[in-house]
Amino acid sequence: MSNQLLDRVVAEIADEMAQRADRGEVASYIPELARVDPKAFGLAVIGADGHVAAAGDADVPFSIQSISKVFTLTLALGKAGDRLWRRVGREPSGSAFNSIVQLEHERGIPRNPFINAGAIAVTDLILSGHQPREALGDILRFMQFLAGDSSIAIDEAVAKSEQRTGFRNAALANYMKSFGVLDNPVEYTLGVYFHHCAIAMSCRQLAMAGRFLAHSGQNPSTGHNVVPSERARRINALMLTCGHYDGSGEFAYRVGLPGKSGVGGGVLAVAPGRASIAVWAPGLDAAGNSHLGRVALEMLTRRMGWSIFGV
Ligand code: GLU
Repeated sequence: MSNQLLDRVVAEIADEMAQRADRGEVASYIPELARVDPKAFGLAVIGADGHVAAAGDADVPFSIQSISKVFTLTLALGKAGDRLWRRVGREPSGSAFNSIVQLEHERGIPRNPFINAGAIAVTDLILSGHQPREALGDILRFMQFLAGDSSIAIDEAVAKSEQRTGFRNAALANYMKSFGVLDNPVEYTLGVYFHHCAIAMSCRQLAMAGRFLAHSGQNPSTGHNVVPSERARRINALMLTCGHYDGSGEFAYRVGLPGKSGVGGGVLAVAPGRASIAVWAPGLDAAGNSHLGRVALEMLTRRMGWSIFGV
């Protein structure tokens, strides 16, 4: 792969995205997120050799929201291994990110670790045996370690905003608690969950943090073995099948890469063996996934021939 080609493609995509009128709707159910500029667009792609192709607002921190769930899942698997799968499933949900209906049918066991209920159950596992502050510190330090950047921080205003208005997440957590799926006090688990969703990172930092998923569990530049290759492969499988809520099929169809979205408008995508990619465009589609983020990734995979399903 030529780095010049990648640089050119990334610059072209950023130019094309700047012209687009269809930008989706910025999330407003977390009041603080509604203040974000809908015109923002950032893209960062880090190749296997460490080359970074970046364009637009690639260095502007944004609220990673549900993208944090990839990293909490990684931590929870490190802590509990396959025991994690006793409290959360591995199937696509086909329902909205904050849906409660499925939980009743499935007796409080969330479908997968990326819908809100599943991510709350994962956070609860990380919290067990710790104070909320310690658990949150572990999550934040993990992100800083992966990105190689100790300046990464939690946006307290976003965390407080969600804490004030997160009634649905509180409903999901209380409901799971009633089935004995959560071990810790609901308000502690939710506090950690809201705060890890409120971590702010730029596309460059996020793409850096995702490199281990693109390279069999290892960061090829530092040589750090983050997870065994089998675990990286499985996390990627979950990102492909569940990473975009009830838009996961559409994302696989159009982009053809494992990816995880967040309502802050970010997407982390993984081209196995090739690149770690982060894109940010705050306007969302009806399923709560970044609209132009998906469009940009579709252009990138098509132009680079990177879909895991073939060129
Ligand atoms: N913190 C958000 C929530 O729980 C995350 C949702 C998302 O990013 O998709 O509602």
